[in-house]
Amino acid sequence: MPKIFVTRKIPEAGIKKLKSAGYEVEVNPADKVLAKDELVSVLKTGKYDAVLALLTDKLDADVFEVAKGSVKIFANMAVGFDNVDVEASKKAGIMVSNTPGVLTDTVAEHTFALMLAIAHRISEADRFARAGQFKGWEPMMLLGTDFSYKTVGILGLGRIGSRVAHHAAKGFNAHVIYYDVKRNLDFEAEFQAEFRPTIEEILKEADFVSIHVPLLPSTYHLINAERLRMMKPTAYLVNTSRGPVIDEKALAEALKAKIIKGAAIDVFEHEPAIHPDLLDLDNVILTPHIASATEETRAKMAELAAENIIVALSGKEPPNLIK
Ligand code: NAD
Repeated sequence: MPKIFVTRKIPEAGIKKLKSAGYEVEVNPADKVLAKDELVSVLKTGKYDAVLALLTDKLDADVFEVAKGSVKIFANMAVGFDNVDVEASKKAGIMVSNTPGVLTDTVAEHTFALMLAIAHRISEADRFARAGQFKGWEPMMLLGTDFSYKTVGILGLGRIGSRVAHHAAKGFNAHVIYYDVKRNLDFEAEFQAEFRPTIEEILKEADFVSIHVPLLPSTYHLINAERLRMMKPTAYLVNTSRGPVIDEKALAEALKAKIIKGAAIDVFEHEPAIHPDLLDLDNVILTPHIASATEETRAKMAELAAENIIVALSGKEPPNLIK
């Protein structure tokens, strides 16, 4: 009977799917990230045919080297796979898959939750109310910024970026501009969206900038001090992609110096650490990497990762093989 190792407790739907395919499933009994040497020891046993892994597992050449010969696939329960050394997996002849699509709506919703929350000062107002500072309606109290009819700049118009752009254009009559390495003419026609060939043009024009690129060498510190200075002082920056896409120290400095009006971020450069200066600022909202964290979506992600394992172990190409 094939054996599957799951690196940490995940929604039961994924485990159930694997078990009903006739596999023996073992889940890391400690509900914590396995250190690399712990994962390597597990794989050294040579007992497992597949591993269901998470974005907190660093799947590098050492891991693939010990997994070689037993593990056929590492199914990453995330759409982003910057935790995986894909070249090393290929060299070892081990498949890797991800979970695209099933989390698109949820991450787009979370992006909107952040975007509207920072513009309407929701976290700040909540702290104000709880601190007993609300003494009655005031004409000038906690004034925020409208989102409707504003210019929204999308960096990375893929699955999630285009969903965010859809909601902005259709739900809030926003003017969408975008920057991507690929142009999408159909999208432009449908949403009256406009392509900008450089990121700088987006930063200079947009009232809200939302980041949806994968973490790659080309997107590392895509937003740095110089680029933050190109943004309008009234603009907001939202990031639900990956932390290292922003130079977090530069962001903290820009927010402190009011170079931009605010930011709302779900991901951090050195997770789980958060730059300490961000913690004291009112013009930033911080969520702890939860953009896909709904019960429905995490169950779908677990099921899709399981599906990739089942197809791979049946000798076929899994639906979400990373090539
Ligand atoms: P996707 O592949 O559909 O979209 C990514 C887009 O970025 C593509 O259109 C691609 O052409 C573009 N792109 C790539 N490199 C670029 C560059 N250098 N400059 C500009 N554009 C570039 O991916 P997706 O499903 O939309 O997910 C996007 C990212 O969101 C994931 O890679 C992941 O890191 C992140 N994510 C985060 C969470 C979270 O919990 N916060 C959840 C899901 C996804």
